[in-house]
Parts: sequence; C-alpha cells; structure tokens
Amino acid sequence: MRLILLGPPGSGKGTQAKLLGERLRLEHISTGDILREAVRKGTPLGRQAEPYVKGGLLVPDTLVNDLIHERFRDDRPERFVMDGYPRTLAQAHAFDQVLRQEFLDLNAVIFLVVADDEIVRRLSGRWTCPNCKATFHITSKPPRTPGVCDECGTSLVQREDDREETVRKRLSVYHQNTAELIPYYRGRGLLREVAGEGDIEQVYVNVIRALS
Ligand code: ADP
Ligand code: ADP
Ligand code: ZN
Repeated sequence: MRLILLGPPGSGKGTQAKLLGERLRLEHISTGDILREAVRKGTPLGRQAEPYVKGGLLVPDTLVNDLIHERFRDDRPERFVMDGYPRTLAQAHAFDQVLRQEFLDLNAVIFLVVADDEIVRRLSGRWTCPNCKATFHITSKPPRTPGVCDECGTSLVQREDDREETVRKRLSVYHQNTAELIPYYRGRGLLREVAGEGDIEQVYVNVIRALS
C-alpha cells in the first residue's frame, strides 16, 4: 500500500499515519517530523528550514523535494504513508517523478475532511513527544500520566507553531497552496474523501473503508 494523507494542519494526518504505519506496516514519512528534527539538531537543512517552520510558512519546494528525493533513493520504501508531503502542486509533480523513477505507483490519496473550528480546538490542545513523535491531546487523547509520553516516557512538549497566530498563518497557507492538490489528485482518480471527525478509531475505520 502506498498512500498520501492530505488535509489541513490538525486534521489528524500524523495520528492516522502512525496507526496506518503500525497496523499495515507502512513506512511513515513525515516531512514535518524530519524538518523539526533537523532544526533541533541544527543541521544545514535545519538551519535553512528553521525560519519557515517557526513562522508557519512552507519551506521552499527545492529543499523538501531534495529531501524526499534522497530519502527514496537511499532507502527506497516499498510501502509507505506520506504525511505532510506533497503540499504544493510543484511538490506533487516532483513526487510523481520520484515515484516514476523508482517504479512505485500510488494506491490512494486520503483527504481528511475536518471543520475549521475543530482544527483550532485540536491544535491548541496538541502535545507531542519529541522522541518518538507520538501525538496527544489534552481532552480527546490525554496521555495516561499528564505531560508524559505513553509510548516512551519522554516529557511531552507543545509545538512552537501551534500558537494561535501561527495556526492562523498555517491555515491560510494550506488554503492558498495545498488545497489545489485536491482537484489534482481527484482528476487522476486517486482522491478518497474521508470524514476526519469522530474519535480516532472511528476515523481510522473510515480510512480503511475508503481504501477497500
Ligand atoms: P496533523 O498531523 O494533521 O497536523 P495530528 O495528527 O497531529 O494532525 O492531530 C492534531 C491534534 O488533534 C492532536 O492533538 C491529536 O491528538 C488530535 N486528534 C487527532 N485525531 C483526532 C480525532 N479524530 N479527534 C479528536 N482529536 C484528534
Ligand atoms: P501540520 O501537519 O500540523 O500542518 P507538519 O508537521 O506537517 O504540520 O509541518 C510543520 C511545518 O513544517 C510546516 O508549517 C512547514 O513549515 C514545514 N513543512 C512540513 N512539510 C512541508 C512540505 N511538504 N513543504 C514545505 N514545508 C513543509
Ligand atoms: Zn514518546
């Protein structure tokens, strides 16, 4: 299975990608996680990406395209779920080319549909594990011990870009740049619209149904 998850910030891409990764044994490829890790380590990529990530803006296409190109060339994933890439039409075209080179076909593009007010509620309560990247929510998915990751015991953090002002920025970037991928993949017969509201397991069931 080779999938792309598409949807606004906070729609549940990371949460569902992690479940799909574990349950269907797909490689979970998250450009957000890769970029945040690079920023944290202060690598050359991280230093270039940092102002964009912190400001809620898209990192330039060439940087993320190169990153994905290398990932697929060096460690070709046979089965994967893309989380947060592609995010612009230029990235979608670059990704098409990478997949063609590697003789990999996409099975589906899952579009998680979530209302704007629910998105704000989700992002303002999101806590993430800086170690294993698990994601929690203060009310809808609280960790067993407050402030501590269920899976690895690391202290949870709130993302800097989940502040209200930056969330608004990210939503407008989504509408301006990423939303155009919906007609692109629909036109290729790959788009599956999935209701992204309801509890996490229900959304997972919706995703699986959309794939069969
Ligand atoms: P994205 O990767 O699309 O930005 P996340 O998967 O990180 O989204 O989810 C954003 C926040 O919403 C997290 O705090 C997560 O725990 C929570 N969340 C995810 N799915 C649901 C859901 N179906 N219902 C309620 N909260 C959810
Ligand atoms: P979310 O799913 O909550 O929107 P991500 O973790 O996917 O957040 O992305 C966080 C930030 O990382 C983005 O705001 C952007 O700065 C950068 N980023 C991630 N993926 C991409 C991408 N494909 N193209 C450009 N920037 C990206
Ligand atoms: Zn953890």
